[in-house]
Amino acid sequence: MEKYDLVVIGAGPSGYAAAMRAIDFKKKTLLVEKSRVGGAGVTNGALSSKTWWELSREAAAFRKNLRRYNIHAPSISYREIQSEVQKAVAERKDMLEEHMEIIRKSAAKYLDFKEGTARLISQNEIVISNGIKKEKVYADNIILATGSRPRYLPELPIDEKIVMTAHPSMKPSPSPRTSRSRTCRASA
Ligand SMILES: Cc1cc2nc3c(=O)[nH]c(=O)nc-3n(C[C@H](O)[C@H](O)[C@H](O)COP(=O)(O)OP(=O)(O)OC[C@H]3O[C@@H](n4cnc5c(N)ncnc54)[C@H](O)[C@@H]3O)c2cc1C
Repeated sequence: MEKYDLVVIGAGPSGYAAAMRAIDFKKKTLLVEKSRVGGAGVTNGALSSKTWWELSREAAAFRKNLRRYNIHAPSISYREIQSEVQKAVAERKDMLEEHMEIIRKSAAKYLDFKEGTARLISQNEIVISNGIKKEKVYADNIILATGSRPRYLPELPIDEKIVMTAHPSMKPSPSPRTSRSRTCRASA
């Protein structure tokens, strides 16, 4: 069974930073991620929501200025904006993965990365499964950086069309006229 000084479960912003810091201290570290490196911060949280926000603000300001000069504003393609957001998310994710690859080459004995769902089976043992195989590892220390999930409120029905959660499977319906963001998340 492989042994590590530290296993970090979850490669979102906090897990990623924790793993990098542990390498600074020359700890043999394993980072485990079940979905995408970058977590909610990149995929369906801060980066994507603020890219939507910035692009919407730019588009609104552009249309307002054209109206001021009596110029007819061209229609804006929601699909194009959506693909800009996806591009920003993909760029950031690629950056993180490239950074991790560089670290894995330059400090190979300190950083290991595994894709899969980690589950604690004892105080120092973790099972990682990725659908193909199961692997047990040992860790002196474990950091749970598994983030949060949307919390459902009984008085607020969520249909994922008008009212959406930030769940990764969320697919925005075409061309909403306006949007508002409220965060309500529970620890996993
Ligand atoms: C819509 C929205 C907008 C936001 N806007 C902002 C903002 O503007 N500014 C800001 O600072 N913050 C913002 N946030 C909050 C920010 O995204 C989170 O605080 C941040 O992502 C938390 O990082 P984390 O690493 O703790 O968790 P996460 O980013 O959730 O990462 C956890 C990771 O753990 C993985 N994981 C979970 N369980 C397991 C397991 N058993 N095995 C392996 N991997 C596992 C998940 O796949 C995920 O990748 C926003 C969040 C949302 C939802």
